[in-house]
Amino acid sequence: MAGTRYLCQRCTNCCRWPGFVKLTEQDISSISTFLNLDERTFIQSHTRLRPRRDGLALQDKADGSCIFLDGRNCAIQPVKPRQCSGFPNDWNFPGWRSVCEAVEVPF
Ligand code: SF4
Ligand code: SF4
Repeated sequence: MAGTRYLCQRCTNCCRWPGFVKLTEQDISSISTFLNLDERTFIQSHTRLRPRRDGLALQDKADGSCIFLDGRNCAIQPVKPRQCSGFPNDWNFPGWRSVCEAVEVPF
């Protein structure tokens, strides 16, 4: 079926805007393995409790950007959280086009 997908241009806006990068249990497992850390160590060193205390999110750097943002790259690109890999095609929010530089591609 024909449709439209959006291709990320690595503008890094979504790695720098305020909010929480939520982590699923699978994300925690995959990222820990990728970093060669046990999960407990990864959780202590790179995550924080979400405000509603209903799960974990990645820590931010002092400037508010994601702890894994490295210049224009994601340091955990192959295993980045589902929230990251799913935006903007699997989920987005009203007005997202004005803050995301992804380009439309037919598929
Ligand atoms: S994990 Fe990677 S893609 Fe996700 S917000 Fe952090 S730097 Fe960006
Ligand atoms: S805001 Fe959009 S174009 Fe920019 S890095 Fe995120 S998904 Fe890619």
